[in-house]
Amino acid sequence: MIRENIEAVKQKMAGACDRSGRKMDEVTLITVSKTKPVEMLKEAYDAGPRDFGENKVQGLLDKIPVLPQDIRWHMIGHLQTNKVKYIVDKVYMIHSVDSLKLAKEISKEAVKKNVTVKILIEVNVAEEETKFGTTTEQVISLTEEIAALPGIQIEGLMTIAPFVEDPEENRVYFCKLKQLSVDIKAKNIDNVHMNVLSMGMTGDYEVAIEEGATYVRVGTGIFGERQYLK
Ligand SMILES: *Cc1c(COP(=O)(O)O)cnc(C)c1O
Repeated sequence: MIRENIEAVKQKMAGACDRSGRKMDEVTLITVSKTKPVEMLKEAYDAGPRDFGENKVQGLLDKIPVLPQDIRWHMIGHLQTNKVKYIVDKVYMIHSVDSLKLAKEISKEAVKKNVTVKILIEVNVAEEETKFGTTTEQVISLTEEIAALPGIQIEGLMTIAPFVEDPEENRVYFCKLKQLSVDIKAKNIDNVHMNVLSMGMTGDYEVAIEEGATYVRVGTGIFGERQYLK
């Protein structure tokens, strides 16, 4: 079932690439495996994906040691400063950097461990009160401040769009994030690449690809609905 789901997602990704004149190798599928047991991740791994996303530090610490070493682990959830030290040298990328305080902590731990950490700045483009992320007004100044910190490489932007019935409703937000990344790129800030746009989830990844996503984060579409205890 997982293999079939991954194939179906890949086909839809290819369709969205076709419609928007993009190449499939410009877009990477991140398999969002939060709450899922290791056996299911192995099944997904065997079907091809090498990028996995978790939204909790504990999930990463539980899964990284017991799964193949060539997996690129993405931290996609809100990260508390006091937990940065546990994952800074274990993940491929942190998608959820939304404050200078968090970036400073990542920088401090990166320098201590002698690594460079790839990060994305999370932007709350839809301005939802329940979501983390910096604002569209603040993203440029935040990017400039973070770019000056050692041990951090800014690769691009990330957003979590609203939960909607019709994915077309989110097109405007994906378009906005793309425009923001173009604006930031034009500033040629040292130490800032704007090659990554992490946007689109199970409900809206096709629209996100049409608007320029380079990472789509898909959980439910691969593993089925998540079950949370309480
Ligand atoms: C859970 C999660 C996803 C995946 O959501 P689905 O709707 O299950 O595809 C993507 N991004 C983030 C940040 C998440 O927390």
